[in-house]
Amino acid sequence: MPDNSTDSPLTDLRGLTLQELTDFIVELGEPGFRARQIFSWLYRPGISSFSAMTNLSLAFRARLENIARISCLRVDKREEAGDGTVKYAFKLADNAIIESVLIPDNDRHTLCVSSQAGCAMGCAFCLTGSMGLRRSLTAAEIVNQVIHARNELEAGGKDRINNLVFMGMGEPLANYDNLRRALDILIDDHGLDFSQRRITVSTCGIVPKIEQLGAETRVNLAISLHAADNETRSRLLPINQTYDIAALLKACRAYPLPKRRRIMIEYVLLAGINDSPGDARQLIKILHKLRCKINLLPCNETETLPFKRPERAVVEKFQQILQEAGYTAIIRESRGAEISAACGQLAGKNS
Ligand code: SAH
Ligand code: SF4
Repeated sequence: MPDNSTDSPLTDLRGLTLQELTDFIVELGEPGFRARQIFSWLYRPGISSFSAMTNLSLAFRARLENIARISCLRVDKREEAGDGTVKYAFKLADNAIIESVLIPDNDRHTLCVSSQAGCAMGCAFCLTGSMGLRRSLTAAEIVNQVIHARNELEAGGKDRINNLVFMGMGEPLANYDNLRRALDILIDDHGLDFSQRRITVSTCGIVPKIEQLGAETRVNLAISLHAADNETRSRLLPINQTYDIAALLKACRAYPLPKRRRIMIEYVLLAGINDSPGDARQLIKILHKLRCKINLLPCNETETLPFKRPERAVVEKFQQILQEAGYTAIIRESRGAEISAACGQLAGKNS
């Protein structure tokens, strides 16, 4: 029975880190090792109640049923594009809608997860931004997006999710504590068992939190840069008025990158705004000596926002200038545009 009510008096054990779960169990007067036992059940496919946890006594399972619960997400809508991209809209207990996008590529699957319902950052070209922030997600709501997609893939006899990207709705670093909790669970080998190499957190540039993420994790970092000069960037991304390009790139240069890994620089190409050869050359200048690769995202147009995608030749010229300067620059066509699953199109409208 789907149960994601946040006003439930029962404690949701999904979304607690192992340490938090241990504190909870010890407070019940049980030995701490029971927490590890419960934790390793919580994230398995098909687990929705305590009755399946056969290495706990019947009495303890019954006690847990009375005080705790295991949440999951309620699917509001599932849409599949011709290329196999699946967009899930989940309805949360307070009726907020969040979306996740599962993107198949040959035998591999990338899941794009949301960290907030809406977003407060107000980037001019982004539909999620134009809806404002409804609220941040709990760690359970983040992790449950992954569990839902994983369960569906496994039930269909398909492979596992290979990559997780925090590129859905919201600004993950504006919900740092719950992001950290979710990451702890996602990478724990008794949790979802993802390697940190397979997880990417994307940010519009909240500099102190980039530093914290670098100090506390080894996940990949993606930066939504989108402009090479402060005037343009401040117009497009209001966060730039607080942390400008110099501060942002300083944090990127200081980010502790494991060997052979690079920061992903995302650059939305908006016709007539940031797509000229001069912009490309300025980008080369500011990225000097940063270990990075560049993803060029031709703007996904929306009805309500005034931005247009540049002509293909303009996009290719921009790419060519970066490549000639020695950068890896890839043109990324967003998948699933026909079901509004592409970057910047996630608006979580109620159906
Ligand atoms: N808030 C984080 C995570 C969202 S990632 C961030 O901004 O990095 C979503 C990516 O899609 C970001 O790089 C975002 O800038 C980009 N995006 C937003 N609107 C877009 C649009 N209309 N076309 C193409 N990409 C867009
Ligand atoms: Fe928020 Fe990212 Fe959209 Fe900006 S681009 S409004 S930070 S989701």
